[in-house]
Amino acid sequence: MTRSIKKIGVFTSGGDSPGMNAAIRSVVRACVYHKIECVGIYRGYQGMIEGDFKPMDARSVNNIINKGGTILKSARCLEFKTAEGRKQAYDNLRKEGIDAFVVIGGDGSFTGAHIFAQEFNFPVMGIPGTIDNDIYGTTFTLGYDTALNTVVEVIDKIRDTASSHNRLFFIEVMGRDVGHIALNVGVGAGAEEILIPEEDLGLDRLLDSLKRSKASGKSSSIVVVAEGDTTGENVFELKKYVEKHLPIYDVRVSVLGHMQRGGAPSCYDRVLASRMGVSAVEALLKGESDKMVGVQDNKMIFTPISKAIKGHTVIDTELIRVSDILTI
Ligand code: ADP
Repeated sequence: MTRSIKKIGVFTSGGDSPGMNAAIRSVVRACVYHKIECVGIYRGYQGMIEGDFKPMDARSVNNIINKGGTILKSARCLEFKTAEGRKQAYDNLRKEGIDAFVVIGGDGSFTGAHIFAQEFNFPVMGIPGTIDNDIYGTTFTLGYDTALNTVVEVIDKIRDTASSHNRLFFIEVMGRDVGHIALNVGVGAGAEEILIPEEDLGLDRLLDSLKRSKASGKSSSIVVVAEGDTTGENVFELKKYVEKHLPIYDVRVSVLGHMQRGGAPSCYDRVLASRMGVSAVEALLKGESDKMVGVQDNKMIFTPISKAIKGHTVIDTELIRVSDILTI
């Protein structure tokens, strides 16, 4: 049965990522195109509970496709985890005449949306926005490509100083549970070693690898470490360990941190966000709900949110092999 949807709410939730604004723009304009109303909900579920809504038209989203962050702001909202909080949110949506919503966020935000959809039989659609690329049901999440480009650019700069001083740099990048960023930027920036949560290289193998690297005549070494890697307790411990066992190395550490989330979205992320926004609105209008839009083989696909939040993404083992070959 096709639901009659006349007004769609859109919001960003959880960790921000580049491309969220492009997705908001796309949702708003797709609504205008299909002659339905669109309402921006500020600060994710917090704004839904507080009734922080703003009607959006095609001109409300001028000049944001190129901006990082999110004009609708984001928030983490504990109250939405309670039945009372969600009931308050539902009452506010109904009062505003909102018939469905599009949530742009990560796993946590989708979990909230799924529970809400089930509880109130309310149509929801998810757009995956996170730089970690750790959401099942899409080959790429919004912001991931931008983060890769940001990090590669920074590592190139660090390489300049590393090679001028014959230094070894441990560079920590985001990725608490998955090593997608570390593995890809490691290959893209020609890192000598890549440490990811999916593989425990072990401290001895790290030392062997660094010895080989030195013996082969390399003048600088870059080791990319994902936040969640378990080879050492953290990058500072790795530095201490290498300094102790391989004093030939002058070791430095660089923790890239939140800069990885910022900046103008890459062209890829802008296009992906534009496609996902249109797909999400059109799916709601066709009567779909409780799904996440994703991209696979360059086609838009839909995955039930219940599956998306349970599934895991897997690392590209071919890339590990390529890295091993190229760091010879
Ligand atoms: P992300 O969406 O980036 O994974 P979070 O995990 O912080 O970010 O989740 C964002 C918000 O989604 C939370 O602050 C909360 O409001 C909502 N949320 C997360 N988990 C649940 C849950 N189990 N039930 C209801 N709401 C949830």
